[in-house]
Amino acid sequence: MKRFGLVANRLHRQDADGALAGWARACDAGIRALGLGLHAVGGTYDALERLKLLSDYPPLARLPSGVEGGVMRLASRITGGLAPGDELDGVIYLVDPVDPSSLYPETQALKRQCVIHGKPFISTAAGAAEWIGVELVHAKKGGAELAGAIEGRTVALIAHDALKRRMVDFASAHFDLLSRFATRVGTGTTGGLLNDLAWSRGWPAGKPWVNRYLSGPMGGDAQIAELVLDRRCDKVIFFEDPHVARQHEADIQLLERAVSAATHDTTCFNSPVTAERWAAAVTA
Ligand code: PGA
Repeated sequence: MKRFGLVANRLHRQDADGALAGWARACDAGIRALGLGLHAVGGTYDALERLKLLSDYPPLARLPSGVEGGVMRLASRITGGLAPGDELDGVIYLVDPVDPSSLYPETQALKRQCVIHGKPFISTAAGAAEWIGVELVHAKKGGAELAGAIEGRTVALIAHDALKRRMVDFASAHFDLLSRFATRVGTGTTGGLLNDLAWSRGWPAGKPWVNRYLSGPMGGDAQIAELVLDRRCDKVIFFEDPHVARQHEADIQLLERAVSAATHDTTCFNSPVTAERWAAAVTA
């Protein structure tokens, strides 16, 4: 059985109609069908209990609260933790971008360790529901309706330099799937490589497969962030390189914060392994 960390910033956990509650209600049956272990940081666990969500579900466990190190422990357990059986398979962290704790070092380390270990770091309510669908499809327990909204949508494709080859390979392997999106957008250099791929695959010459914005360091991430804020981009597939210092780190964070501001509408994958697992579910 898989085990995920679970955190929701205060905005998303305080009310019965908040993002955490909406997700827990909509996905209750799917979570139970999977037997998904949920290791919830204190305040998030307490909110589920107070709102009477995921009641009588033993795989829901309580970690210490944030001030007691709950998020820090999640970061360790994504890497494998200290003892056999500690390891987590991913994290659902419903981020409120203006909550300072979303920027604490332990939150950034948690996300970075997810990227390094190829595990999902799911930061939005839409993404959390989508991922339950992905896991259900892989477990052959339904879920296709949660995992696969594509038609009429827009996907952003972005890769840092060390991962551009992986992005081209991903797009090549899933060319038909990605072509089903109404629109593809990308940062300048990544988009150029993907257009070359598409033309080599018979996409009409002169018609871009990806609408290119500026190169990331020149502002492309910020431009795509505005599309996300306008609800004109529904999914961001961003192959991040966590092993180098990035001169445009602020722009990368800006895009991720825009995604979490659009929590009910937008989903984001940060690593090739996660994107591949989604694509395999959607094409299953
Ligand atoms: P690029 O930008 O595709 O123009 O290289 C990606 C990035 O670094 O954000």
